[in-house]
Amino acid sequence: MIDLVLKYHRMQLPREVIVGNGTIEQVADISRRLGFTESALVIAGSRTHDIAGRAVRELLEDKKVEVDTFLVETATIKDVEAVEERIKALKPQIVFGVGGGTKIDVAKCSSARQEIPFISVPTTASHDGIASPLSSIKGFEKPYSVMAQAPLAIIADTNIIMQAPWRFTISGCGDVIAKLTAVEDWKLAHEEKHEYYGEYAASLALMSARLVIESADLICEKSEEGLRVLIEALISCGVSMSIAGSSRPCSGSEHMFSHALETVKPNCSMHGERCGVGAIMMAYLHKAEWKRVKATLEKLGAPTNSRGLGVDKDEVVKALRMASTIRPERYTILNKLKLNSDACEKLAEATEVI
Ligand SMILES: [Zn+2]
Repeated sequence: MIDLVLKYHRMQLPREVIVGNGTIEQVADISRRLGFTESALVIAGSRTHDIAGRAVRELLEDKKVEVDTFLVETATIKDVEAVEERIKALKPQIVFGVGGGTKIDVAKCSSARQEIPFISVPTTASHDGIASPLSSIKGFEKPYSVMAQAPLAIIADTNIIMQAPWRFTISGCGDVIAKLTAVEDWKLAHEEKHEYYGEYAASLALMSARLVIESADLICEKSEEGLRVLIEALISCGVSMSIAGSSRPCSGSEHMFSHALETVKPNCSMHGERCGVGAIMMAYLHKAEWKRVKATLEKLGAPTNSRGLGVDKDEVVKALRMASTIRPERYTILNKLKLNSDACEKLAEATEVI
């Protein structure tokens, strides 16, 4: 008898990606093109509802789509469950996530659990979750993102995103630049632990990081053109995770440091800011271009040291020590080197993080 093992690799990709000035106006057209002409649920926060959620609702209602709005302020299991209840009651054809991080995470996770597609309408460019198939929800046992579903469409209106505070944009840059070390860690796991490594997904994430580094001057001009580079890079990172089937191309030791620091001192700084500083130190460990990472972050006005992240020296060292335990199954340079407290301190000092 032949033993047939069905081996497959599933890639779930966005079907429509629209980036540009005033793209929100196309929300009803896109919805219609995708076949959602009857009902929709819009998930937003109270602020993002004012910024874009109301517009999404009105534009859909103009085309006779029945729309319900659900406001969330955090991204906890409770929020996800509350949205799931609403989905069960209303049975919308499509869920829109309108916001920065948390609203999109809640929309993505709850719609995936209820097997309904979702469309991402980001109001900031602060991290790659706007386009990734993963969601980060507080209260699940893991402090990092878990698989949910890829957005069916991404509608990124640069006019709206440009109005977000500059800090959100530089945080997004940090999250993209962090792919340099994430990919190094992935390669390392492939070489030393024979982990699956996808060249295409890795290249896409790396290309996004390089593009943002090379475009730092343009991004600093705070022009629409610069913002577009960043948004497209974030979307490419999201797509690279869809292709890889995991967050591997976009999340390595620098993300473990970020998650650890968030555990050591919650809400000290933004995700991408921590990942950027993590990338400086992890690039040093990988013997990669850590000075270039640091110089780019400095140019963008992003934090490059503990003070910038709102933590002290001991908290950085503690987070470095903790980082390799955050996700033990994900082999990175930290698992290889097994740094003790002394070595962690030396690393942070050598890179001028402390
Ligand atoms: Zn990230």
